[in-house]
Amino acid sequence: MATTPHFADTPKADQIRIPGLALLELPILAALAQTDHPVGATTVRDSLRNGGYEISDPSVGRYMHEFDARGYTRRASNRGRELTSAGRLRLTQLRRQETRAAQDARFRELLSPSTLKEIIDILAVRRSLECLSCREAALRATPEQVEGVRAFVASRRPSGDMPGFHSYLSAVSGNALLSALVDLLTRQEALHQTLRSILGAQGSLADMQFHEAVVEAVERHDADAAEVAVVEHFDRMIAAVAAFASSAATDSASSADETTDPIPAVSDR
Ligand SMILES: [Zn+2]
Repeated sequence: MATTPHFADTPKADQIRIPGLALLELPILAALAQTDHPVGATTVRDSLRNGGYEISDPSVGRYMHEFDARGYTRRASNRGRELTSAGRLRLTQLRRQETRAAQDARFRELLSPSTLKEIIDILAVRRSLECLSCREAALRATPEQVEGVRAFVASRRPSGDMPGFHSYLSAVSGNALLSALVDLLTRQEALHQTLRSILGAQGSLADMQFHEAVVEAVERHDADAAEVAVVEHFDRMIAAVAAFASSAATDSASSADETTDPIPAVSDR
């Protein structure tokens, strides 16, 4: 049985007894990592203050005792404490978690566009990704996959909508990462609804021409034709969103750059 705390271990319930430790663990370990010599509680406290955390010396002392118990720090005579290798690993892990959380939050924010400009940005990224995925789909599609693509066209709704068509095509590309990215950008319900409303208002909701052109290109294994169809499809959607933006701006007669205005309320037709 290992008794040394491992950096990846989640602390057991009875180890978590100091309020605020979860919040202060990273800044305290970071403060200790700033120097290559042992530091005392006052130095750590000052460093935390510089980072905006108000904490007393005795509290810092209690946290350090806890870190000793977890194996992250050790006493270095009477000069203070220093990080152990387990403490450095823990700090690396916490920094990675923090970076990942910030990236996730930023990504979620970008996938919930609040302006027409942000919608256009997403469509522009999709245009590039789907040029690649549809080219690959055209080059690689097996007879069964060509059948599957045809079945999508047969299943279209009266509105011309074919839910899942873009994701299906990207899966045919055989590139799992590309397919996951297309799927991620395509299956955003709120974005989809907003886009439907805007394209509906612009009278360009159904884009059968694209869907048929790309299906034909895939059947003929013609990558260039597939790319042309994708570019036209997205250019048309981007133009529709831009036109919607300028008509919304004319209505309110206010903005110099209408695409950065918040998305106006649109009825879902
Ligand atoms: Zn489409």
